[in-house]
Amino acid sequence: MNFQLLNWYLPLIFAAGYTILLLSLLARFSQRNQQTRWYLGFLAASIVWSVALFALPQGQSPPNLTLHLLGASATLLGTTTAVYVGWLNERRWLYLGVVAVVVAVGLETVAPNSVLVLGDGVRYRGTLGGLLGFATWFCFNSGLLLWTWRDYQETRLPWHANRLLHWAVFAFATVAGELLTFSTVSWIVAAGYLLRFVGVLGLARAITSHRLFDVRAHLRKIVAFTLIVVASAVPASIVLTLTLWLTDQLDLPLSQVYLASLVVISGGFLLYQPFRRFVERVVYRYLLGQEFQTSQVVRSYSQAISRTLEIEQLAQVIIGEIGDLLQTTHGALMLVSEVRDGYQVEAIPSGNHHGHSQIVFAGDSLFIEALNSERRPLLQYDVDFNPFYQDLDESEREWLSIQNMELFVPIHNGSELAGLIALGPKLSGLAYRPNELELVQVLAEQTVIALQNARLYSELNEQNDRIRFLNSDLRRQNERLEILDRIKSDFITIASHELRTPLTQVKGYADILTAMNEEATLSQKDTREIVSHITRASSRLEGLLTAMLDASQLEVSGMELTFMRTRLEVVIQLAIEPLSPAIRQRGLNLEMHGLGDLPPIQADFKRLVQAFHNLIGNAIKYTPDYGLVSIFANRAPSAEDEEDYIEVVIADTGIGIDPQYHELIFEKFFRIGNPELHSTGATKFKGAGPGLGLHIAKGVIEAHGGRIWVESEGEDEERLPGSRFHVIVPFTPPGYEEGPSLDSPQAKRLFNLLSEDPA
Ligand code: ADP
Repeated sequence: MNFQLLNWYLPLIFAAGYTILLLSLLARFSQRNQQTRWYLGFLAASIVWSVALFALPQGQSPPNLTLHLLGASATLLGTTTAVYVGWLNERRWLYLGVVAVVVAVGLETVAPNSVLVLGDGVRYRGTLGGLLGFATWFCFNSGLLLWTWRDYQETRLPWHANRLLHWAVFAFATVAGELLTFSTVSWIVAAGYLLRFVGVLGLARAITSHRLFDVRAHLRKIVAFTLIVVASAVPASIVLTLTLWLTDQLDLPLSQVYLASLVVISGGFLLYQPFRRFVERVVYRYLLGQEFQTSQVVRSYSQAISRTLEIEQLAQVIIGEIGDLLQTTHGALMLVSEVRDGYQVEAIPSGNHHGHSQIVFAGDSLFIEALNSERRPLLQYDVDFNPFYQDLDESEREWLSIQNMELFVPIHNGSELAGLIALGPKLSGLAYRPNELELVQVLAEQTVIALQNARLYSELNEQNDRIRFLNSDLRRQNERLEILDRIKSDFITIASHELRTPLTQVKGYADILTAMNEEATLSQKDTREIVSHITRASSRLEGLLTAMLDASQLEVSGMELTFMRTRLEVVIQLAIEPLSPAIRQRGLNLEMHGLGDLPPIQADFKRLVQAFHNLIGNAIKYTPDYGLVSIFANRAPSAEDEEDYIEVVIADTGIGIDPQYHELIFEKFFRIGNPELHSTGATKFKGAGPGLGLHIAKGVIEAHGGRIWVESEGEDEERLPGSRFHVIVPFTPPGYEEGPSLDSPQAKRLFNLLSEDPA
């Protein structure tokens, strides 16, 4: 064949080929994405290059033009690759290439003389520009091949890897084809054109369709086929050689030779079939993975999952069974439940997939929609590259990619999606074969009942837990009710005791007064003493009645307060004042910290005095002689976004309070211990009171928008763990509006008006 002549026209033929490809791509893709656009640019450069090869044969001016066109096409291919593979900043490739080509062409005009003498028949001239042009072509192509190969090696998901492998193979064919065109041998140049064209076609396919044929699987199939053919041919050739050799050696008559050949050939035929089957089985097993006995697999799978009721165990079994069967790296069972605003998908951890993560897919999510309508396994690769999933919600896409799965197999329960079996890539790194996909779908269908049972079982467990919780809550409420009931009956005892004691005293002393008066034995001193007893008893009665009235007011209408600027230091001083004789008498120590540093607050002065009087009074009452009562006050909190408040802690070294009573002591008429005991004094150690002090204190603090609580390890008269009553009061109570103070401008104006002389 006259390659010289053919080579002359070949570039034109391939230019036509590239043009047809370009036009068909333009016609097919009206909406072009970025990678298609760059690829079309590459095709255009290829056309110009081919036409230039035809129109400007070797050595003609302008020098090395075809080489620079090749450099430009390499630049565009590099940019396409950058977009296709997803490298950062594809423009970098473009700018670098453009600069290199422009500089090379510039050098070609500035320094057209050769700096390098190249051999005879070499297509290009060894100018500076030519060298730079070649370097551009070489670097771009090796860069794109190396990086694509590196990404292929690093990608774990087989279909993603296949996509890169496909690109790498055809980019290599393109580049290798270009390399061959540098040759001086005509048929090698022709082969180069052809190889490049095949490469470009393969790249076009990669650009335009998301699902590419499985390169590795095809390769394996070709190798397997070749192996089977070769291995099957071996015995036939042995038989043939043996027959020929035998006839040659034994020098038998022709009839016997025929007979012997017949016997040997028939024997060969008999043995051939089983041998071929054996070879096939071995090759398939080691090259293409084993074949399944579907019914057997399904039976053992169903048996395994029917034994499990717990959802997490079920997940283990499902993923374990399928993982063993298909040799997967990991997997997860995902539960799908319809919720108000979509579908909640929850990955159940199993084996080496630990993430117990969940997400709500939108009601119209493309992912769920596809699984629901197609009822076929869905590849993560499709989610990433199929244009159908282009508009998938970003958060959903991210969640799916975090799961690191290769495959999602839907489990349908009648009409709705109940779950997913998600599988990671296979250990071999190969993609799932169609028969494997079919098998997992069959297994997923077998899972429906087991999954339903497991869900019912877990719901039942949840209900049980809830009932158990409710029961314990009921028990707690019951105990509280019992105590409250006891408080009620205690109230009668306490109230009658508390009221009767001073009343009896008043009555008794009044009787004595009357009797002594009648007997005329009443001296002035006696009268004074008896009257003072009566006064003390009646003021106790009065105090008690006031406390009871306060308590009942709290119940009916809450506490009514009158706010004014109040200094807490003064409040505490006034609360302590009536208690000072008792403190002195019982040898108690009283310490105060931080009260002087506090700014004034808006509060009901009288009520606060009452509350702190009750609290400090209790601290005195429940601390043995010579104990310590401390009052700490500070401004809190330091956090900027919270409202300012004051915290006061009244701590004692007394008998402490059992934690079970920490809330109850603030109830009306509640007091720890025997209700039969009546008041033994307001300040005596453990002197019982009517059980109203803390209740009123709590009412006052809460009416200020504050809080009160107690901390104590427990009650112990030996160890004396003590109690700490915490009080928190805000600077200004909620809802409080400041009225004009005497310093305000309005008040001053009013004052001036009033003091003006009316005349
Ligand atoms: P009372 O009038 O009986 O003191 P309170 O309402 O003031 O009633 O207190 C209720 C109960 O809380 C008291 O009976 C007492 O048992 C317990 N209590 C109050 N303060 C203290 C304290 N500082 N230390 C130990 N127990 C206390």
